[in-house]
Amino acid sequence: MSERKQFRAIKGTRDILPPDSALWNRVEGAARDVFANYGFGEIRTPIFEETELFARSIGVETDVVGKEMFSFFDPFDSRLRTEVLIEEARKRGSRATGVGEVILSFNFEEITLRPEATASVCRAYIEHGMHTLPGNVKLYYIGPMFRRERPQKGRYRQFYQIGAEVLGQSDAPAIDAELIEMLMVFFRRVGLDQTTLYINSIGDKNCRPQYVESLREELRRVKDQLGEDSQRRIETNPLRVLDSKVPEEQAIIEKLPRIADHLCAECRDHFVKLKQELKMRGVKYDENWRLVRGLDYYTRTTFEVTAAGLGSQNAVCGGGRYDGLVELLGGPPTKGIGFAIGSDRTILSIQEGHPEWKRELPGLAVFVAWMGAKAYPAAVQIARKLRDSGVSVELPAEEMKFKKSLGLADKLGARYALIIGEDEVASATYTLKRLSDAEQKKLGENDLLEYLESERRGTGA
Ligand code: AMP
Repeated sequence: MSERKQFRAIKGTRDILPPDSALWNRVEGAARDVFANYGFGEIRTPIFEETELFARSIGVETDVVGKEMFSFFDPFDSRLRTEVLIEEARKRGSRATGVGEVILSFNFEEITLRPEATASVCRAYIEHGMHTLPGNVKLYYIGPMFRRERPQKGRYRQFYQIGAEVLGQSDAPAIDAELIEMLMVFFRRVGLDQTTLYINSIGDKNCRPQYVESLREELRRVKDQLGEDSQRRIETNPLRVLDSKVPEEQAIIEKLPRIADHLCAECRDHFVKLKQELKMRGVKYDENWRLVRGLDYYTRTTFEVTAAGLGSQNAVCGGGRYDGLVELLGGPPTKGIGFAIGSDRTILSIQEGHPEWKRELPGLAVFVAWMGAKAYPAAVQIARKLRDSGVSVELPAEEMKFKKSLGLADKLGARYALIIGEDEVASATYTLKRLSDAEQKKLGENDLLEYLESERRGTGA
């Protein structure tokens, strides 16, 4: 019984601790600011939904639905209590003894931890009749997603996305362009400057089926030269073959038919206008005909952003247009476009590109080094006043020797030590020591508050 088990976070999940969490907050805060400037409002949807919502929207042939979802039966559903189930099964003449067999014989509701949020946003759009709202409905979300993938650097089973969606009656290329402009403004705002935006058009229901068929025919001809995964995809999802990173397949893929040569007039026109709009807005892009995206629901515009310093998992954002999705989920005919930024990778890339990232965070401003019982009440009061005016303060709970106090202030990364001894209390002044160069000032309370407040504004703390 005395065995001491060391609990650890489950494989593919991780804790985000300070100071990293401060960078996460800064990145998420930048998204909120930028998206609000473009007229987006936040939507918070549940972490789990009916499995069928994802199966229907993302597509059963995709890796996400086929092998990566965390799905389970609702354990709080009273119908699922073992005894009840087995009794029910007996009543129906079943000879099943195990719960598994019983569950299979009934159609119980299954739920899934969301692997992405677009399906949930569309579900909410329909559920709340948002199509009656004026103008386009512009929503953003921030939160965790779950996919049972093989964990590696930049690939987790619980990861985080910041996403935005525009839903409404119009599919004007200006909507796509504005959304992409907003995305690139966000990346610039968080200091991710070495990004590349790739764009493509994958056609719509009028032209894509013919393209997919000609791609499939060509792939069947070269089947023997392809690896196992690509061979399977020829029949299930031939567009995904274009995503392949297998070195031996690259030369073959380069010779395959390209969607650009198969777009119908409307899709071609939409793509041309999108590119004109991006140029007008000063958004740089590269065209990539192989950018098809993994999920089934995309039409026309697809895009992806890659960032430096991430190795093979270098996609920090994926997005595209999904004009039929709301209808597919039982809603009114609706156009839609959106993107999802991978927060984990965005933050990794910021950290790799800016080794100084920790110093750029606000950090602790003041460590109160108080000494003597008489100094303590004064320390408590000034700490409260400083905190009220937005200055971050660490106030030791127990008295410390002066040297130890300054040592701790330094280790905690405080910018200033505020020294309060009995002399200071008697003269109603404080000694403020800047820890970077040991410069000291004696200040009365008002001057101190004013000085630290202006310092806070100056550093953006
Ligand atoms: P997707 O929803 O697959 O289009 O992914 C959009 C973005 O989310 C990707 O570009 C990645 O940055 C991020 N992402 C997707 N899957 C993972 C994962 N398993 N771990 C970390 N980030 C991910």
